[in-house]
Amino acid sequence: MNSHQLFRRSRTRLALWYAGVMGVILSLSGLGIYRSLEQSNWAAMEREMASIAGTLHDSLEPMLPASEDPTAVLRRILPELCLAGKSCNASPTLIQRHTTGISDRSTYYIRLFDHRRQLLAFSPNQPVELPQTFNAAPWQTFRSGNGVRYHQFTIILHSSESHHTAPQSSPHASWGYLQIGRTLESFDAEVKRMQWILVIGFPIALGLVAASSWWLSGLAMQPIYLSYQQQQQFTANAAHELRSPLASLLATVEAILRLPPSHQQEIPMMLHTVERQGRRLSHLIADLLLLTSLEHGSSPKSFQACCLNDLVSDLTEEFLELSTASDIHLTSQMPDGEIYVLGHESQLYRLVSNLLANAIQYTPAKGYVMVSLETHDHTAAITVKDTGIGIAPSEQPRIFERFYRVDSDRSRKTGGTGLGLAIAQAIALVHQGSIQVQSELGQGTALTLRLPLAQFASRRTKTSVKERTS
Ligand code: ADP
Repeated sequence: MNSHQLFRRSRTRLALWYAGVMGVILSLSGLGIYRSLEQSNWAAMEREMASIAGTLHDSLEPMLPASEDPTAVLRRILPELCLAGKSCNASPTLIQRHTTGISDRSTYYIRLFDHRRQLLAFSPNQPVELPQTFNAAPWQTFRSGNGVRYHQFTIILHSSESHHTAPQSSPHASWGYLQIGRTLESFDAEVKRMQWILVIGFPIALGLVAASSWWLSGLAMQPIYLSYQQQQQFTANAAHELRSPLASLLATVEAILRLPPSHQQEIPMMLHTVERQGRRLSHLIADLLLLTSLEHGSSPKSFQACCLNDLVSDLTEEFLELSTASDIHLTSQMPDGEIYVLGHESQLYRLVSNLLANAIQYTPAKGYVMVSLETHDHTAAITVKDTGIGIAPSEQPRIFERFYRVDSDRSRKTGGTGLGLAIAQAIALVHQGSIQVQSELGQGTALTLRLPLAQFASRRTKTSVKERTS
């Protein structure tokens, strides 16, 4: 499987997982909202029915005498109700009077039963399909013959006298029953509407989630793909860089082995070439290893205070021989006070020596190289300035790339691997620093390394350690 297929497959898998998880979350929350809406509607409806029943119950009970014929009493106190077994043409105003404030009054009906559970009276808007048999359960839900659902609340009625007399003196525990019911048509329509919203909305939401997961997984894969490509490029470049000195080394060894006895005096010179190629290989491998170890990052805990004055003077001294040999004037400029930063001394030496080596390498004879050390707002700055060949503005952003050389042939001839500035920048980053380049073609280059001063760096290091542990 090639890398393109691998990344596409990973992206698809990531998108599917993302869409799956989002789908489950969406459906669970959709169902949750649906259930809670349904339940709150149901509870509100039951509260409304119980309140109407309570109002009716409270206004009816004081007017219900135990002894009289219930039909006659009802005709007197509730003239708007239809009496069972009698023709009914009363207007439905009673229910309206007791349900003031209810949005849909026509949905309610009332029924009155005596203590023998015989229907006494009912409101004129009572649906004809209601069951005639009495059920004393407080809450009932049933479906009529034409498929309409009804919800009904039953409450016991006591006569006015039963409140004043002892329970054992009354022949019946109750006067009768009051039933308040309503059609569930509007409730069911609302539930159906919610179900439709879910049925239509869920696939649309899922489609949107799938599309966004594909897009998001693409975004997530981008840096991985980029880093993979860079890694591949690095491997290819490293292999290429290793191949040339290795091929030349093998060719020299072969030549030595085939050398006729008459040319034995050439062997030491050829062995020098072998040694040079071997050293180049060894440097390259050491640089690669250093870059890899820098990539893994150094722990700021192992940082120590490093005196930059010592570092600059040591390196100036060290490079003096090389600069003199190249006929280059090397000078340094330092402040009176000592400047400390936190870091790995050997790595910082390596960083500045790379900058110095480059400055000498890319400056023609009779040129100048100057190293200066100064401080600016919690920052130490080491600038290596030369009067060398300079770097074109278009090349400046690329010189920190691994194996990048502005002039490959020239750089190779001088032993450059194209890793010097990449290593320098990696070290600077490990030390929370940066390197800036200022250069003009044919005029010279100034590379400035900025590092946080020890007092400031230690505070930042402590914070970053804290951040990492929290
Ligand atoms: P190299 O090992 O080839 O010197 P570096 O990473 O150190 O690689 O530098 C990358 C490129 O940047 C070099 O090939 C060179 O062209 C350019 N460069 C670096 N420093 C200087 C400088 N002081 N003056 C001019 N060019 C420079």
